Amino acid sequence: MKTIAYQQCINPTCSATFDIGQVLTSCAKCGELLDIQYDWSKAPLPKSLDAFQQRWQSRRFPLDYSGVWRFRELLPFAADAMVCTVGEGQTFLQNAVCLGKELGMWPGQLWLQYEGMNPSGSFKDNGMTAAFTHARIVGARRVACASTGNTSASLALYAAMNGFQGVVFIGSGKIAFGKLSQALDYGALTLQIEGDFDTCLARVRQVSSQLGLYLMNSVNPFRLEGQKTIMYRILESLSWQPPDWIIVPGGNLGNCSAFGKAFHELRQLGLIKRIPRLAIINAEGANTLYSMVHAGISWNGGHVNQAAIDGFYADMDRRQLHAHTVASAIEIGRPVNLKKALRSLDVMKGVVAQVSDNDILEAKAMVGRFGFACEPASAATIAGLRQLLANGTISRHERVACVLTGHGLKDPDATVYYHTGVRTKEAKYPPAEPTWGHLANKPIRVADDLQAIIRSLGLDEKSIDQDVAGGYVETSRELPFIEY
Ligand SMILES: *Cc1c(COP(=O)(O)O)cnc(C)c1O
Ligand SMILES: [Zn+2]
Repeated sequence: MKTIAYQQCINPTCSATFDIGQVLTSCAKCGELLDIQYDWSKAPLPKSLDAFQQRWQSRRFPLDYSGVWRFRELLPFAADAMVCTVGEGQTFLQNAVCLGKELGMWPGQLWLQYEGMNPSGSFKDNGMTAAFTHARIVGARRVACASTGNTSASLALYAAMNGFQGVVFIGSGKIAFGKLSQALDYGALTLQIEGDFDTCLARVRQVSSQLGLYLMNSVNPFRLEGQKTIMYRILESLSWQPPDWIIVPGGNLGNCSAFGKAFHELRQLGLIKRIPRLAIINAEGANTLYSMVHAGISWNGGHVNQAAIDGFYADMDRRQLHAHTVASAIEIGRPVNLKKALRSLDVMKGVVAQVSDNDILEAKAMVGRFGFACEPASAATIAGLRQLLANGTISRHERVACVLTGHGLKDPDATVYYHTGVRTKEAKYPPAEPTWGHLANKPIRVADDLQAIIRSLGLDEKSIDQDVAGGYVETSRELPFIEY
């Protein structure tokens, strides 16, 4: 295929371009991040976004079935035959009526984009399919990543299904067991490095370039091309009417970077008129973006104040500050996509908020209580929404789409601890005392005895006998359900 895609440096005073056949994770001239760009004038684009929807009629064809490649004209860097897809992106935007009501929003205005439904259980699959496709194009055999867990799970799955050797680097003791179990099960070579995620990533970047491993972290610009499609699917679910807000957790800041690029391009191509606003939510213990933005660092037309960023990191080093949060997927102190995230904030008139671990766990329980299992990092969106509603940044009548980035079964330790106060040896939480949450739903210990069971159901012992005989029982007190 004669390609219309190329790689380009995001630094406007450099803007160097590179062939997509090159494997790069930063500009070879100035070291800045790279975008994938397209010569849209040569790209066969549909006249309206509706055309993508029609692909559902031909969903036996893998590229139409994929929630990523169904939008392939909007990431046109690969010939169809090169695409590595495992059917990712079958995710949906769910109207969270009860949760929205609980948060005091207008009926029907809260939507959850449930990316936990991906093959490896997180949104990472959207990016991995695109990066593996590029790896296949350039003939890579071995692929690697540093990971807080989900990147390694996703990499391991795609490597296993597409015949690559996968190598994952994880920080010692920093990974939720659900995620580690996936990397092991899918057969990735798993290296546990002493140190945190930031250390791991620095190491894997060095190792990759020296040993010729293809790097799958979100410094890989192809990853972000796949992640743009999360936004296309949200638009599709809303009949191509952009919501007022998109809310996403911020870790390495790849997702929010991809979202900004998606909307920028759609507007540039005349496919949408209005761009939603963006809220990126940091955990308080990993709040680099929040702190920098509140210190006045901005995209500034691409001329980001590098000295201020360097000073910030130097100060973090001096004070030996390391990221620390229950939301392990966003426990990152040096987000590699920082500048692209600043660009997204600019494109989408974005805001950044930070939330505490307690708020994250309460929000997670609330999401779960209304039927969506998600991991702590994902619930940062709901904790952030609560805060932004309370301080008036978002108003009750606005339409909000929160991205639930990862599945609840990824980190069961956090959930069980919240509900029971019991923690497993591996659980990262709690910091100190075993206080469990407002929505704690503790299992009740009960003897193997009918009367004891009746009592623990809160039923009246005397009135019960006939009812039991009749096949059902009348409750004398309300069972512990919240009524809506
Ligand atoms: C990777 C990940 C994040 C962070 O996304 P970034 O693109 O790194 O900001 C958030 N939540 C979950 C579940 C993740 O796996
Ligand atoms: Zn450059």
